[in-house]
Amino acid sequence: MSRIKKAQAGNTATLSQSGINSMTIKEDNISGLYVHIPFCTSKCAYCNFYSEPVSAHDTYRLLQAMRRELSLADTSAVRTVYIGGGSPSCLPAAQLAEFMKTITDKCHDITEFTVECNPCQAAPRMLENLRELGVNRLSIGAQSFNDDELNLLGRIHNSESVRTAVYQARQAGFENISLDLIFAICGSTQATWQASLEQAIALNPEHISAYSLTLEASTPLAQEIEQGKYTAVDELTDRAMYEQAIETLTKAGYEHYEISNFAKSGFECRHNMGCWQNRPYIGIGPSASSSSGTRRTRNFSDIKTYIKAIESDQSPIGETVKISDMDRICETAVLNLRTKNGIDVKKFKQVTGNDPCLLFAEPVRTHCEQGLLKIENDRIYLTAKALPIADYVLCDFAAL
Ligand code: SF4
Repeated sequence: MSRIKKAQAGNTATLSQSGINSMTIKEDNISGLYVHIPFCTSKCAYCNFYSEPVSAHDTYRLLQAMRRELSLADTSAVRTVYIGGGSPSCLPAAQLAEFMKTITDKCHDITEFTVECNPCQAAPRMLENLRELGVNRLSIGAQSFNDDELNLLGRIHNSESVRTAVYQARQAGFENISLDLIFAICGSTQATWQASLEQAIALNPEHISAYSLTLEASTPLAQEIEQGKYTAVDELTDRAMYEQAIETLTKAGYEHYEISNFAKSGFECRHNMGCWQNRPYIGIGPSASSSSGTRRTRNFSDIKTYIKAIESDQSPIGETVKISDMDRICETAVLNLRTKNGIDVKKFKQVTGNDPCLLFAEPVRTHCEQGLLKIENDRIYLTAKALPIADYVLCDFAAL
């Protein structure tokens, strides 16, 4: 649901053609662990993520396979853990707790441990278990506070469930809660979006993510729009809603620290900051990706294929892409530019051995002239004018 497409891998130009310094890319020894739980109670109408109905699968068997995959991973550098999906909270509470325990037994220096939670699955006992097992951040998929909009999205919760979930999470001791919101939902207006923003702020979460609704062609919602049942929000209104989110959330004391993310001071998502620094990450579970910096892999998506591979002592990796130095440098630039701090010129030079002002001289010059980029205090960053059209700027950094 991101507003920005990630840099494309597989650039075919050679290093000698690019003229970049290929020898000095340094490994960052801190990494993140992402665990994909591919189950949901039912499928939302807009969802294009890989997930299957929880009732149709042997969740314990899959978790056993994932536990085995995790046991073989080198997690010594892991500092942040993110359990997403899918809906991790739709797992039987005892199985979820047992799996969390495996993670904390395996990773000893976790500074941030996030679990995604569907609002209507925030049972007090489950939340208490998570806190006791070291989970210190809860990401609640609120999406909207308008029940008609939630209904249209096919969500299984209503706005009251979000309020209850936040209350239960506080009761369980969570001091770091994030709410996910979606704008530009069919039928929404700037007034309904404002109401959702204000109701989110009233719950005082430490972090809010706000994404524009992405309409993937294969989803039921996109097909209903195609058939004329609903009308997609037009581009200008979408942009106005994004600007409205920035204005409302920053006025309420949230720092706009990444294109789609807002946080109270000190509550930026460390796991995602690692991604935007292009640090290595380990992915566990069906369809999860991992990156070592030089190689990106993706596990089999199909649950049965994934389990079968692990149970027969085979690798669950279904796809491997080599990341060239050039790809990695471009990815780092694109990901860094997503954040408020943008590209830190000195750090970029240290990590990649290349001066971004020279390497990306042409897009930097063009976009600075258009008022979309700024160079200041050794940083290259997107201006406020660029944020709603960030894709347009970032695609010029995605390849050399
Ligand atoms: S809960 Fe999330 S992952 Fe599951 S179907 Fe809905 S949007 Fe997709």
